[in-house]
Amino acid sequence: MPAELIDGVAVAKEIRAEVARDAAALLASRGITPGLTVVLVGEDPASAVYVASKEKACKEAGMNGETIRLAADTPQADLLALIDRLNADPAVHGILVQMPVPKHIDPQAVILRIAPEKDVDGFHPINVGRVWIGDDTGFAPCTPAGVMVLLERAGVRVAGANAVVLGRSTIVGKPMTSLLVNASATVTVCHSKTRDLASVTRGADILVAAIGRPEFVTADMVKPGAVVIDVGINRVDDPTAKRGYRLCGDVAFATVREVASKITPVPGGVGPMTIAMLLKNTVRAAEQRA
Ligand code: NDP
Repeated sequence: MPAELIDGVAVAKEIRAEVARDAAALLASRGITPGLTVVLVGEDPASAVYVASKEKACKEAGMNGETIRLAADTPQADLLALIDRLNADPAVHGILVQMPVPKHIDPQAVILRIAPEKDVDGFHPINVGRVWIGDDTGFAPCTPAGVMVLLERAGVRVAGANAVVLGRSTIVGKPMTSLLVNASATVTVCHSKTRDLASVTRGADILVAAIGRPEFVTADMVKPGAVVIDVGINRVDDPTAKRGYRLCGDVAFATVREVASKITPVPGGVGPMTIAMLLKNTVRAAEQRA
C-alpha cells in the first residue's frame, strides 16, 4: 500500500489560523500587534518573492509585516545600524534579514547583530544554544521546527525512534538534529563524508532528507514502513513543463512512496511550513517581550 501523504499545505493552514487567533488574543489582552520586519538587501528575484510572501502572510494573520528594501551596494555598517534601530523599536518583535546578502556583507556579522529576542529565524548562536539545551524561550529555525510539527500532527511517535538526518547545514540539518534529540529520538546525522550511506538510512524509522540533491534517496535506502520527510527543493529541467523545469525533492517520491508508511510530497510538504513557523515565532517573540 502506498504511503500516507503528510499534507504540509493543510497543516500550515492550521498553524496560520492558530497564529491569527494568538495575535488577536494578544491585541485584545495587551494591545500588542505582533510585528515582523524583513530586510532585503539587493534585488535577487527569488528573495524578492520570498519576502513578499512573508509580508502577505503576516497581514493575513492580523500581524504587522513590513519590508525594508536596501540597495545592493548598501555598506555593511549601514545595514548593522538599521538592525540596531529595529532592535530598539518596541513595535518590531521579529527581525529577519533575507539571505543570501550581497558578497561584501558578512552574514555572520548580520546574524550576531540581531537581538536574540527578535531573531525569529533562529540563527543567532544564543538561539542555537537555547534550542540545543531544550530552553523553550529559544527560537528554532523555521524549517526544522515545521518538520517537528508535521511529525506531531501526523501522529508519528518520535520518542525512542531511530531518526536519520541527511545533511548537516546550519539552517536545516543541525537544528533538525537538536530538535529530534530533544524529542527523545535516537539520531544519526549523515553528510557527504558518511560511509555506506544506504546502510545508515535503512536503519531509520524517521528519515529526514535535506541535502539539495534531486531524488537522491531511493527506495532501496528506506526501511519498509519508515516515515520520510523531504526537505529538499530542487529545480530540474523538464521540457514538458510550462516553465521548462519542475520542482522535486531530495527523495525519489514515486518509488519511495511504495516503501514508506508516511511521506511528505514536494511541493506541498515541508515548504509551506516554513513561513507558518516564522509567523508563529514572531507571535511568540511578541508574547515573550510583552
Ligand atoms: P546545504 O547545501 O547547506 O547542505 C547540504 C548538506 O547535505 C550538507 O551537510 C552536505 O554535506 C550534505 N550532502 C550533500 N551531498 C550529499 C551526498 N551526496 N551524500 C550525503 N550528504 C550530502 O543545504 P540546505 O540544508 O540549505 O538545504 C538542503 C535542501 O533543503 C535544499 O534542497 C534546499 O533547497 C532545501 N531547503 C528547503 C527549505 C524549505 O523551506 N522547505 C528551507 C531550506 C532549505 P557536507 O556538510 O559534508 O557538505
